[in-house]
Amino acid sequence: RLALEAVSRAFDGTAAVREVSLTVEAGEVVCLLGPSGCGKSTSLRIAAGVERQDAGRVLIDGQPVSDDRGHAPPEGRSVGLMFQDYALFPHLTVAENVAFGLRGRRARDRQAVVADYLLRVGLKGYGEKYPHQLSGGEQQRVALARALAPRPRVMLMDEPFSGLDTRLRDEVREETLSILKREGTAVLMVTHEPDEAMRMADRIALMREGRIVQVGAPYHVYNYPVDRKAAAFFSDLN
Ligand code: ATP
Ligand code: MG
Repeated sequence: RLALEAVSRAFDGTAAVREVSLTVEAGEVVCLLGPSGCGKSTSLRIAAGVERQDAGRVLIDGQPVSDDRGHAPPEGRSVGLMFQDYALFPHLTVAENVAFGLRGRRARDRQAVVADYLLRVGLKGYGEKYPHQLSGGEQQRVALARALAPRPRVMLMDEPFSGLDTRLRDEVREETLSILKREGTAVLMVTHEPDEAMRMADRIALMREGRIVQVGAPYHVYNYPVDRKAAAFFSDLN
């Protein structure tokens, strides 16, 4: 279980995230949805421990992992990260990249897990290649396999499917969702596409200007928008 408690962050005196509170239960997918610049990525980066907050706390399974005085780094908190700018290690092969979070496991065990996750993201046989030999979408799928393989209790994803074409996106999305559901992972996923949130989320947290303005099941947020701006945000959907 992941909890953000009144987390705030300003850049150069301008508030980017304002007292964001949110919980994600084990096995639940919560989508942070909102227009560009509303503070989604900053909130996620604070949850991940790669950005500090000015105030508020982040808890994983009830244990505080960060407050405004300090934090445990991502490796120390059983979180999987899948960010657009969280690149693959260029000097490691695809298989070595996916194996990165599996240090400490027996070599044979590790190989089997790597092969399994590469198969799941549709990259069987790519293990010996290097990132620069792959397309952007392929690299993204390797990053997904790398995030999933250690079976983290909390998964934080920022627009994880945005670089994929439509057909691949549906496939990888389904596969990812089924893996995360089966593992009972708490998932916080950022998207600016209402359509993606409607499909994937158990709950949607709608953000605007650094604040969460509404949280609820997709049908609820869609049918009972909190105000006209929220309604307009969903109006392109049909
Ligand atoms: P998008 O959908 O475009 O990715 P977002 O909701 O993820 O947008 P954030 O990246 O969280 O938005 O940014 C929120 C606000 O904080 C923006 O106004 C942005 O310019 C600002 N901001 C984010 N990171 C920094 C930074 N490192 N330094 C200064 N300002 C920042
Ligand atoms: Mg963003």
